[in-house]
Amino acid sequence: MLSEVVELIDSKHRFAITSHVRPDGDSVGSSLALMLMLQELNKDVVVVMRDHIPRAYQALPGARHVQRINRFERPHQYDAVFVIECSDIDRPGLPGLSEQFVVNIDHHTTTIRFGDINWIDSTASAVGEMIYNLCKATGARVTAEIAECIYAALLTDTGSFHFPNTTARTLKVASELIRLGANPARISRAIYYSQPFSKLKLMGLALSSLQRDQTGRIAYLAVTQQMLALAQATEEDADGLANYPLAVADIDVVLFLKEIRPNVYRASLRSKDAINVAKIAEYFGGGGHRNAAGCTVEGQLEEIQRHMVEKLQEALMSPSALHHRSLRPLEEERPIDAQRIDRG
Ligand code: 5GP
Ligand code: MN
Repeated sequence: MLSEVVELIDSKHRFAITSHVRPDGDSVGSSLALMLMLQELNKDVVVVMRDHIPRAYQALPGARHVQRINRFERPHQYDAVFVIECSDIDRPGLPGLSEQFVVNIDHHTTTIRFGDINWIDSTASAVGEMIYNLCKATGARVTAEIAECIYAALLTDTGSFHFPNTTARTLKVASELIRLGANPARISRAIYYSQPFSKLKLMGLALSSLQRDQTGRIAYLAVTQQMLALAQATEEDADGLANYPLAVADIDVVLFLKEIRPNVYRASLRSKDAINVAKIAEYFGGGGHRNAAGCTVEGQLEEIQRHMVEKLQEALMSPSALHHRSLRPLEEERPIDAQRIDRG
């Protein structure tokens, strides 16, 4: 818990920080904020990650100091390693991590208590919110740079303050961060309005693959290696595409598949709250949050889509999902044989 983390920081000196493979805005923002906070406290600290920092987050303060590593060199290489928003100890993709003193800091509901210290707060909208509390608890000064990194974490993990994890506390912290020097327009511009042309071309291809199931409530789309080549896009250009179909009124759940190798797909699940997609992701060996989760699956694209859509349909039909649905006006219900869009 928080007091153990504060005590550890007080009593130790050499720290490393890591997060999951293919880091997102919360992983990067929170890791950098924690790094800058520990530097404020005159600690020796480094951020280490297996994967590179996505382009959208490279402008964040401290991002160029992140070191890419493949493993930890030796047991107890650091006094402690902070592991940010990882549901299990394998998520950072770094062998040797289990031979370190591990501090697990997370806000996922599906997380395992794999750390020597575990600080889990599932009420936090982002780990960034927890890091803000940690700054308060350690008495570290929240500099404009720290504020910027935490703001980026909140902004991205709440889907620009759209998702249901956005709370009064999230906005209160965001407001304080702005007062402390975070510039919302500049951060949003760096993250959302600085995309390469290839990203939009890829979006066009992916959106033309959009389909929905017979109920009209589940949308599914994919990015294949062929589409990446056509758009001259990188895998990173596919980030964020999973959210778009939620723009449709009747769509409750989205399944986005990205081909990372022949017959291997990264699945991203998104929901408007009708169901807990973390449960579905867990069923397929992954995890995540109620409204955003993911996993890696093998097989033919159509086969994976059929199987995963079937599981999502089951979840939507379960009593708890029906309960959620009954909170909405009945006119919103669609006939079971609602028209189906095939292949754009
Ligand atoms: P995304 O779809 O953006 O890759 O991931 C959405 C959320 O699900 C993130 O919070 C991420 O941490 C979690 N997530 C994605 N993939 C996996 C996975 O393979 N395993 C686990 N445990 N969580 C995942
Ligand atoms: Mn997060």
